[in-house]
Amino acid sequence: MKKKQVNSSRIPVYRDAGFELYDAKTASEAFICETSPERDPEVYIYSRYRNPTVVAAEEEIMRLEGAKWALLTQSGMSAIDVAVSIFQKGKTTRPWLFFSEIYGGTISYAETILKQYRGLDIHSFSPVNERYYIDAFEKLIKKLRPEFVYIEAISNPMLIVPDVTSIISIAKKSGAKILVDNTFATPHLWKPLESGADIVIHSATKYFSGHGNITAGVVCGNNMEILKAAINYRKFIGHMISADDAYRLHDQVQTFELRFVQQCRNASAVAALLNSSEKVSKVWYPELKEHPSHKEALKLFGKKGWGGMVTFDFAGKTGAEKRKRRDLFIKAVSKTIKLIPSLGDPRTIVLPVESVWGAKYPEPGMLRLSAGFEETKELINLISSSLAKVR
Ligand code: PLP
Repeated sequence: MKKKQVNSSRIPVYRDAGFELYDAKTASEAFICETSPERDPEVYIYSRYRNPTVVAAEEEIMRLEGAKWALLTQSGMSAIDVAVSIFQKGKTTRPWLFFSEIYGGTISYAETILKQYRGLDIHSFSPVNERYYIDAFEKLIKKLRPEFVYIEAISNPMLIVPDVTSIISIAKKSGAKILVDNTFATPHLWKPLESGADIVIHSATKYFSGHGNITAGVVCGNNMEILKAAINYRKFIGHMISADDAYRLHDQVQTFELRFVQQCRNASAVAALLNSSEKVSKVWYPELKEHPSHKEALKLFGKKGWGGMVTFDFAGKTGAEKRKRRDLFIKAVSKTIKLIPSLGDPRTIVLPVESVWGAKYPEPGMLRLSAGFEETKELINLISSSLAKVR
């Protein structure tokens, strides 16, 4: 069939595994170009290397994070693997420093894959009473001289916001690179590259895709040497998103700002409601003055919002009483608010903290709530009437 141009304004889904290279000369040129750091080459070769539908989605994320490049992967975990692995340099690899309050999957990956399997020198920096102390961090950095520091701007599930601008400036002075998992804060609240971060990572499964229907990840940055290493790593390991997922992500990410603004608004309203309820003993939300990171969140996010996540604990004299109230609440909301182990979905979802993290967090009645972008009044009415059923 004769090829013809179609007057579509959209990038098609290019499902080609391998692209047509026509003749030996074009093939040779394509493979020579493949060693350059161009993300969008003249001639595509093979979809595991690069794919035009994927490049179109990457450009949307570059725009959001203010990045010179972005590379999509098939999950947030594979994005993390790309971001850290390019700093592995055989026996000369310096220590890697991870903040302790990061996504549990990242901790397991660091402990198992990086430490046990690859034998890397992995370190962790912990908060004290839900606060990261800058002087303790400075002392550790001087002692360790890490290759990179890995942080999240809003931790899970306690929503700790480190003083990241101070952390970045201290780490940079010691020559460490800065890797930020910005999944929770999103570029709406903070653009880490503007503050000097070297790599920004997202689980695009969450707010970027925003509909609970795509598993994807992304790494972005400005440094072209890092891009070269990341392109190679993604190609060799095969951490590539499919063209179909990239196409859907390209569409869904267009509404990211609209959705996230409403999710922050809903989270704020839910936090205020829970905070005023006698059924709830404690609420963790950075907007609340009593949250240990309120000052840091105000410094970093200004008044742009406080994130879409709220964690809270039910009142009760005993653990059993707290758990009973938690379960009554889950039952009361369950027609509309589902128990789903993810976040950033269209509708509000919840997750019992104890079921996921065990005894790591002391309060057995804790629930983590990811606010959706449903109408605020509808959400508040539902939570309010459900709290009334919690005895
Ligand atoms: N980073 C954060 C902050 C996450 O919450 C998650 C998953 O929940 C990941 C990374 C991993 O992403 P994925 O599940 O898309 O592999």
